Amino acid sequence: MENLLELYQTMGVSPAVYAYGEAALEKLRARFARIDQTAEYNQAKVLWAMQKNRVSAACFAATTGYGYDDLGRDTLERVYADVFHTQAALVRPQITCGTHALALALSANLLPGDELLSPVGAPYDTLQEVIGIRPSPCSLAEYGVSYRQVDLLPDGSFDYQSIRNSINQKTKLITIQRSKGYATRPTFSVSQIGQLIAFCKQIKPDVLVMVDNCYGEFVETMEPSDVGADMTVGSLIKNPGGGLAPIGGYIAGTAQCVERCAYRLSAPGLGQEVGANLGLMPALYQGFFLAPTVVAGAEKGAVFAANLYEPLGFRCVPSASEERFDIIQAVELGSGAAMEAFCKGIQAAAPVDSFAVPYPSDMPGYSDKVIMAAGAFVQGSSIELSADGPIRPPYAVYFQGGLTWNHAKLGILLSLQKLVDAGLVTL
Ligand SMILES: *Cc1c(COP(=O)(O)O)cnc(C)c1O
Repeated sequence: MENLLELYQTMGVSPAVYAYGEAALEKLRARFARIDQTAEYNQAKVLWAMQKNRVSAACFAATTGYGYDDLGRDTLERVYADVFHTQAALVRPQITCGTHALALALSANLLPGDELLSPVGAPYDTLQEVIGIRPSPCSLAEYGVSYRQVDLLPDGSFDYQSIRNSINQKTKLITIQRSKGYATRPTFSVSQIGQLIAFCKQIKPDVLVMVDNCYGEFVETMEPSDVGADMTVGSLIKNPGGGLAPIGGYIAGTAQCVERCAYRLSAPGLGQEVGANLGLMPALYQGFFLAPTVVAGAEKGAVFAANLYEPLGFRCVPSASEERFDIIQAVELGSGAAMEAFCKGIQAAAPVDSFAVPYPSDMPGYSDKVIMAAGAFVQGSSIELSADGPIRPPYAVYFQGGLTWNHAKLGILLSLQKLVDAGLVTL
């Protein structure tokens, strides 16, 4: 251990910060054991789906061109469908990111005259242009899809009365975002989402429900598809890609919804039949196989961060002791300067681009300047250790990821070190 302390000191972690971290860690053994139990169940779930669908070396062959009868692609989609317990899944490198997957699911299942309802407040920043809350070419609004929103009650719970009043004849699809995204509201558990879905379907049985599952996959043993979601949607450069998928998105859901998504992604008539895998199958399979363990490591990092920062007086969402339902940890740092210091530490701990210095800048799809720290093997991957946040009150950084718990730990220690060095924190 002396050697470790020495090496950490060479890498910029002072003995005082290290000791503060070890003291916090001492109290987290039981929580870490519970996280490992969830990972064990999810690992078995993924393994069983791969065995049941007879994944073989032939699934890893690269295809090009149209990609008709692509064994690797078709089998991977059955594996996803089995893990999410759905009739079908669309899992493609042609889905470029999470926003694309969500936009696809919405635009494929909403027609002119239909209404979209968000009963959980404003959706993630990038979806606001997809929906047309912020006017944008090709938004759903431009195609005649209207939008209604019910905000959460001040305590973060669902406003059932207003939701009931907002479901009308035109309501076709209800969108529920599991993770908080760039908001400081709580993330919803799968069981809470299930209650909300049951409530909405009781009022309107044929309404479709889509859950934005970004950052939530494998944090619990259940997924939104287990509690009635018609479509569960996410990004492969977050949890389910396990850090290995270089691109992609997924939609797991009913055969009818997924089929429409496939027609929207390729073309009416073609659907799921086309779309070459471009040699990405090994990464997509292996990443999904590793994902339960990777997510567990990232969750430990999030718990550790809250238990480091909360005692120092920074509000953490979720709090240090709260149960969690995604891998994101928000830390309200109170100033842009503190956000920059925090992000510098995360960046300095990275295996890639550790020498870069993050600074706030404009980002497509976001209305405020955003600061991002990421030294990732896959560009922009946020299952890898990363921190980001819009420069606006309450100056919260959203910290997430870490392909290994040990790396997440070092990143968090270095973030605290930079705050100490800048005189913004005294231990
Ligand atoms: C990341 C995220 C998205 C968008 O995903 P991108 O891959 O960045 O386009 C949507 N919703 C939530 C809750 C997210 O966290």
